[in-house]
Amino acid sequence: MKNGRRIGIMGGTFNPIHNGHLLLAAKAQEQVFLEQVLFMPSGNSYMKRNVLETQKRVDMVSLAIKNHPGFELSLIETRKSGNTYTCETLNYLKAANPNTQYYFIVGADILFQIEQWRHPEQIFQMAVLVCAVRDDYDIDAIQEKGNALAASGANIIYLNMPKLDISSTDIRAKVKSGIPISKLVPPEVAHYIEQEHLYYEED
Ligand code: ATP
Ligand code: MG
Repeated sequence: MKNGRRIGIMGGTFNPIHNGHLLLAAKAQEQVFLEQVLFMPSGNSYMKRNVLETQKRVDMVSLAIKNHPGFELSLIETRKSGNTYTCETLNYLKAANPNTQYYFIVGADILFQIEQWRHPEQIFQMAVLVCAVRDDYDIDAIQEKGNALAASGANIIYLNMPKLDISSTDIRAKVKSGIPISKLVPPEVAHYIEQEHLYYEED
C-alpha cells in the first residue's frame, strides 16, 4: 500500500479567526510534516449560541489563509444542515480517502472537552490528535489529561509552541469596547470586521 497523505484538520467556530489559530496550524504543519491543513469552520454548533452567520465566518477564514501555502478552506461542516459532529466528519473523510492519515489539531482546552463529544473513541481511531498549549492549563495537567485519553485509545502529539493569549471571545469583547485588535488578527480580517461592522453589538 502506498504511503498515505498527511492532512491536518483545524476545526473551529472561527468567530472570528485569529492569530492563535494561524500559529497553531503553522506549528502543526511544520512539526508534524503536514502536506495540507484544512480549515474547517463549524456549521451550526449545538455547543455555542449566538454565533455570527456562517458566511461571514467563512469569508474571514478565506481572507486569513489566502497567502499561506498548504492552508485550505474546507466547507464540509458548513454545508451540512443541523449539528456537525467531528466523528461524522472524520468518518466521511476516511471513507473518501482511506489512505490519508488525518491529524486533528486542537488547543489544550479541547483535550479537556473531547470526552463529552459524540463517539470520542471513533475520533481517536480515525485521527491523531495534535495538541497545543493554551489558556491556564499547565503542561503537567495537559500531560496528565493526555495520558488518560491515551489509555482510551487516543494518539496525541504535543506541539512545541509559545502560549498565545488570544481568543475569539476576547476579540469580540475588544471590538465592542473599541479596543484595537490589529495585533490579534491578520490585517485583512481586521478590515473585514470594521467594514461589516461586526461584533459592535455583541452581548
Ligand atoms: P471562542 O473564544 O469563541 O471559543 P476560540 O478562540 O477558542 O473562540 P475556536 O474557534 O473556539 O476559537 O477554536 C478553534 C480551535 O483553536 C480550538 O482547538 C482551540 O483550542 C484552538 N485555539 C484557539 N485559540 C488558541 C490559542 N490562542 N492558542 C492555541 N489554540 C487555540
Ligand atoms: Mg473556543
